[in-house]
Amino acid sequence: MTLSVVIPVYNEEGNIIPLFERLSAVVSTLEFDSVEFIFVNDGSVDSTLDTIKKLHSSKVSVAYIDLSRNFGHQIAVTAGLDRSVGELIVIIDADLQDPPELIAEMVAKAQTGFDVVYARRRKRKGESFLKKATAKYFYRLLASITSVDIPIDTGDFRIVSRRVVEALKQMPEREKFLRGQIAWIGFNQTYVEYDRDERVAGDTGYTWRKMIRFALDGITSFSNFPLKMATISGFVMSFVSFLLMLYALYSRFILKVYEPGWTSLMLSVLFIGGIQLLSIGIIGEYVGRISNNVKQRPLYLVKESSTKELEA
Ligand code: UDP
Ligand code: MG
Repeated sequence: MTLSVVIPVYNEEGNIIPLFERLSAVVSTLEFDSVEFIFVNDGSVDSTLDTIKKLHSSKVSVAYIDLSRNFGHQIAVTAGLDRSVGELIVIIDADLQDPPELIAEMVAKAQTGFDVVYARRRKRKGESFLKKATAKYFYRLLASITSVDIPIDTGDFRIVSRRVVEALKQMPEREKFLRGQIAWIGFNQTYVEYDRDERVAGDTGYTWRKMIRFALDGITSFSNFPLKMATISGFVMSFVSFLLMLYALYSRFILKVYEPGWTSLMLSVLFIGGIQLLSIGIIGEYVGRISNNVKQRPLYLVKESSTKELEA
């Protein structure tokens, strides 16, 4: 058996060496014929790349891919997967929030015939209340509106088989939401549980902006529910407006009371205006992504790398 470990890195200078040490300690206890560690530098602006290159020059098992700029976590992982060659592939964060020691357990499970063993968080340490709460409710919301069973409380820390990676390569969408795509792929999946640690050094590379983008990618890639909501609220509002119209005509011609109904008029105009804007916005989110996919730009560009140039 051969193993690849894919590690996306964005400004992780303080974490590379401790991570590599813990990874190699675990991997050396496992019986793999060969192991490769693929560090994908996602446009770091600190000394991350130098650290990786130094490691690469002293360890044959270390490969690196240097992307031409910051493309984001999901694309960095994709770049690493595209160039991995192992029969089993681990995806792990560089900040040691995902404990490398868990890989032993994940490998053992994978070898009993699973294509995907994902790591499910029991606890998350050292993260803000807001981050934990938004993540918690986001995954539950996502689960309730998608037909694919995307596991809750799960990040991208997992081990996957070669055929899962090959399947991922066949999914050409630009908006990468790997945990959803892997759920969609199917085969035999299982999980192990763990407590998520604090980041060892540096700061999170996931800004709120990136997280919102990521959440919207997850929803729009796996659910048309928001579009349906727009349609349903359109129907409901039309029906309510129709009743109001009947009432207005009735009071005008039968009851002959027609006070200048400024309040009700304003309310309904504002409300319907709001619903319309919301619906257009939802449609816009999908249309924007369609246009992104139609452009067919390469997903990422590599500046330099120690791995073989493979056709993506
Ligand atoms: N990362 C990346 N590109 C980015 C942001 C993050 O490659 O634009 C990497 C980062 O180095 C880490 C992993 O993705 O290995 C997870 O990111 P982070 O720890 O910042 O996210 P959090 O754990 O706070 O959600
Ligand atoms: Mg982290």
